[in-house]
Amino acid sequence: MPKYDLPGPKSAEYMEMSDKYEGGATSRQQPFVWDHAEGVKIWDVDGNEYIDWTSGVLVTNVGHCHPHHVEAIQKQVARLMNPYDFPTPERVTYAKRLVGITPENLNACFMVTTGSEATEAAMRMAKRYSGKHEIISFYGGFHGRTGMAMSAAGKQGTKFRYGPTLTGHIQSPFPYCYRCPFDLDCDSCGFKCLAFLDLVVKTQTTGDLAAVITEPYQGGSGFIFPPDGWLTELQAWCREHDVLFILDEVQSSFGRTGKMFAAEHEDLQPNFMPLGKGIGSGIPTSALMTEQRIMDVFERGEASSTTGGNPVSCAAAHAVLDIFESENLVENSAKMGEYMKGRLLEMQEKSPYLGDVRGKGLVMGMEFVKDKETKEPAPDIMWEVIDTCATEGLCCGAVGFYGNVIRVAPPLVISQDEAEQSCDIMESVLLGLD
Ligand code: PMP
Repeated sequence: MPKYDLPGPKSAEYMEMSDKYEGGATSRQQPFVWDHAEGVKIWDVDGNEYIDWTSGVLVTNVGHCHPHHVEAIQKQVARLMNPYDFPTPERVTYAKRLVGITPENLNACFMVTTGSEATEAAMRMAKRYSGKHEIISFYGGFHGRTGMAMSAAGKQGTKFRYGPTLTGHIQSPFPYCYRCPFDLDCDSCGFKCLAFLDLVVKTQTTGDLAAVITEPYQGGSGFIFPPDGWLTELQAWCREHDVLFILDEVQSSFGRTGKMFAAEHEDLQPNFMPLGKGIGSGIPTSALMTEQRIMDVFERGEASSTTGGNPVSCAAAHAVLDIFESENLVENSAKMGEYMKGRLLEMQEKSPYLGDVRGKGLVMGMEFVKDKETKEPAPDIMWEVIDTCATEGLCCGAVGFYGNVIRVAPPLVISQDEAEQSCDIMESVLLGLD
């Protein structure tokens, strides 16, 4: 007997309302409606309790409704909400704090509200600074849904049937090593996809390259991590070709990969680092970290955004950083990630359907296939696992280039007990499949 019969009556009512009034275009998730949450636990509107493996889609890094976060937001809301265009103590001290923790070359910060705005600003500024206009991005990449970000997307789902994308956007293969686009072996390919980039440049550009944009790992395509050293080589390639390097850390920012920033795994120094999602841990805020010499291309007043850097977001983001420091969340992400990945790898050995397990820290993907030899994607099996997990009290979501990857991305405050308990649920559901 499953623990919960889903959807419960209240969830069913809201889900029907969502289909009726939200146009049915929001993503398919689990059959329940969230009511409230605390730490890594969620309760639905019918009172059922779940462990969260989504972090509200990689956002609530410090855990849901952390008391310090909540208090900071409440205090700020009662004091000052938005003086758009005027500096506030919250904004300037937060900018200073971000400059202090990001790679050394990044000494200027432009605050915006969403990840798309931050990536968009990076590409805009790269063009203005370099006086060039072409941008290279990667197959499978995701940088948001605004115009330029969409043009840099490497997935049909992001740009399908919206007509022509912007000119000057060129794409090259990403090292999705489980499904290598060149059918090579990851250990001996010599980064074929980087060598291929030279051919792309020779054949596709007009000699007017401004920047390369990539995620440190591809989130939307299913947590695809490039092999170690690949990003270092890509950065070197950019420097050699006098091209600006944009490392889109919107999803990875603040501790997700077991380091404060994914750039730290290889000591990268990108020219731009868009941050977002987890930095506000639920309060919308994002930031573009860059170099002062690049920022200098703007005249005063040119870098504006109505809610960017508003005091409520900044107070919330300050509290997030406080919690990272006081609760050692980066270390916890690395430690719990190692434990959970170990458990998932054991499951992979035993399950005929779990083709690949990958990730760093607390961002991992479980890729489902019909057959481990043919690697035919199995979104139907994945959905059976997700829906059954929900009935047992584990909330996970789907992602992936082929829509066949389960996200394993709990809030970074997850304890050993919660990690064990949630892995036990996943294991019994996965190994109980017919
Ligand atoms: N870049 C990356 C790497 C992302 O994962 C996302 C969001 N999933 C974005 C940009 C866009 O962020 P937003 O949805 O806040 O605009």
